[in-house]
Amino acid sequence: MRRLWTRSGVSVYVALAAFVVVASCNSSDAGKAERGRAVSAAAKAPPTQMPDEDTPAPEKTGGFDGKRAFADVAKQVDFGPHPAGSQAIAQVQDYILSELSSAGCATDVDAFTAQTPAGEVAMKNILAKIPGERPGIILLATHYDTKRLENFVGADDGGSSTAVMLEVARNLCGQHGRYQVWIAFLDGEEAVNPEWKDPDNRYGSRQMAAKLNMSGDLKNVRAFILADIVGSRELRIKRDANSDKALTDIVWSTANRLGYFGVFVNMPTAIEDDHQSFSARGVKTVDIIDLEIPYWHTPQDTLDKISSKSLAVVGHVILDSVKQLQLQNK
Ligand SMILES: [Zn+2]
Repeated sequence: MRRLWTRSGVSVYVALAAFVVVASCNSSDAGKAERGRAVSAAAKAPPTQMPDEDTPAPEKTGGFDGKRAFADVAKQVDFGPHPAGSQAIAQVQDYILSELSSAGCATDVDAFTAQTPAGEVAMKNILAKIPGERPGIILLATHYDTKRLENFVGADDGGSSTAVMLEVARNLCGQHGRYQVWIAFLDGEEAVNPEWKDPDNRYGSRQMAAKLNMSGDLKNVRAFILADIVGSRELRIKRDANSDKALTDIVWSTANRLGYFGVFVNMPTAIEDDHQSFSARGVKTVDIIDLEIPYWHTPQDTLDKISSKSLAVVGHVILDSVKQLQLQNK
């Protein structure tokens, strides 16, 4: 995915500047106090490869288990870098399918071949389907492929949102609402080339949108909720200008009501991501994403960056937003 407005890239430079200040303080006598503070802060920091101690219990987050979602991120990271077409991604696909099957979800797998700048790449979209009383569909989505970069495991970019959707599936499969809920695990979101340039990106979502259009299901999709990069410790999700305003309002007012106004903030951004494969075909979409992470598309996107609390917040908001959408009559 890509952010269109670069103005807020300032935050990255602020973080870098802060790092330089701390580093230079540490190299001088005058920095002793600073150093002492840094050491005590480090001592208080949570263990970096474990879920947060103070992760809310599932009863507090609508049944969503943040610690279990954290374990799902850890599992994906353990498979190593898993770009589309790799051997490792086959293991991630098996993992997703086996977790969905344990949760009692019915699934469809669409194996397809994408034409990319690196030639033909085999890809797989996985779709969990929860039945409803009416033909309308609430479609949730994540991508699970990682960017083709050396030593890039994508704990946050790919891992976090996939973990959230697995835990959402555990909560929803077996339920039966007014509308169907489908949960898409998309392959091939990342560009094969280093830079993001259409059509070298969003292979999986384009494929799924086209396929659902052919089958006639697309017209029944009432809402498309995408999550992507939702696991950071200082999660701050801005309203995406490329998302549907009314659907964004539903998600943000849900987050407000649940007390998460510090995470779902009322600031604008503009994101290119998988939701656009659906909005281009007239579907109402929303992207839940924090793209302003200093470790984006670097080998530092690792498990220690992930907060089980952040996963729980996003999972809670998605589960409750689905509840709101289930209450709609038309
Ligand atoms: Zn990415």
